[in-house]
Amino acid sequence: MIFEIETIGAGAPRLIPFGLSMIGPVLMKYASPEMQKRFLPRIPTMEDFWCQGYSEPGAGSDLSSLKMRAVRQGDRFIVNGQKTWTTYAQYADWIFCLVRGDGEHDSKQQNGISLLLIDMKSPGVTVRPIKTLDGGHDINETWFENVEVPVENLVGEEGRAWTYAKYLLGHERTGIAGIGQCHREIARLKRYARAVPDGRGGSMFDDSRMREKIARVEMDLMALEMLLLRVATQSKGHPGPEASVVKIRGSEIQQDIAMLQMEVAWPHAWPYQAEWLEPDVAPPLEGPSWAAPACAGYFDMRKLSIYGGANEVQKNIISRMMLQA
Ligand SMILES: Cc1cc2nc3c(=O)[nH]c(=O)nc-3n(C[C@H](O)[C@H](O)[C@H](O)COP(=O)(O)OP(=O)(O)OC[C@H]3O[C@@H](n4cnc5c(N)ncnc54)[C@H](O)[C@@H]3O)c2cc1C
Repeated sequence: MIFEIETIGAGAPRLIPFGLSMIGPVLMKYASPEMQKRFLPRIPTMEDFWCQGYSEPGAGSDLSSLKMRAVRQGDRFIVNGQKTWTTYAQYADWIFCLVRGDGEHDSKQQNGISLLLIDMKSPGVTVRPIKTLDGGHDINETWFENVEVPVENLVGEEGRAWTYAKYLLGHERTGIAGIGQCHREIARLKRYARAVPDGRGGSMFDDSRMREKIARVEMDLMALEMLLLRVATQSKGHPGPEASVVKIRGSEIQQDIAMLQMEVAWPHAWPYQAEWLEPDVAPPLEGPSWAAPACAGYFDMRKLSIYGGANEVQKNIISRMMLQA
């Protein structure tokens, strides 16, 4: 966590989290030694690029209503169904999937869910792009038609994966806090504010109201960073429902920073072009080149309060698991 905060804060790209901070910790805690030996060494080297097969049409917030089926036949599972919003499935070598078994049905829909590791090159796996409103392609529909998965790719016990799924989400949600990104973006925000003339011989940074807004978001970030480090320490690296608090605040703070960047870059931030999210593309615009991506960045940050579990649903978890406990 500290490595990530420091490197991203210094401007290095983020390491893709699906292997390193999502399925990796789950395998370390729940997988057999053979499975650990097979998959873990290939995660930090990125020899295996992972993606996440949790959400389905009709099973997002209500994840345990998922329908993808895995029926055991001898030494394999036959898998059928669909996952959606699968980020970077087009690049992935492997997908970790929550599936429903063929066993006894009982009243609790959290029971009977298993976690399978599926090779994306398996016959019957189809990835279809979902183009987002900004014209980008990060997310996909992933279809499974009679995909054969060896039983040794089952993580832990069959039908018991709801516990593993929640454990993974704890790691995903603390990662979404984005402390390193916030440090980097606040530094950028201050640079912007110092670069924009206020029309009175100074810069926007000389405006006490603007400085107050920047100070507010910086204090929020400081509090979140302390909370995150405390959660990580006290939970000994196994975050529970506190991860929902971290996720809500982290996503809100990142959205607040993006909003302030828009405010400072005004009016040059208004036009939206997806390619201006790339740092090396010079926009054909009047005004400073740094201002152009501010609007695209602002819209891109909207996703943070949805993925990893929508913020409204995190509030339900906090209410149920922490306030009523
Ligand atoms: C950019 C992006 C990338 C993603 N990548 C992946 C991925 O790689 N793999 C993956 O598996 N999933 C991925 N997701 C899916 C993500 O986890 C879901 O979008 C999220 O869990 C919300 O589910 P949903 O979209 O079905 O919305 P819904 O569950 O339909 O929710 C719609 C709205 O209703 C609200 N709502 C729902 N239930 C309640 C409730 N009980 N109380 C209060 N409000 C409620 C929600 O907060 C939300 O505002 C991604 C999503 C996005 C946006």
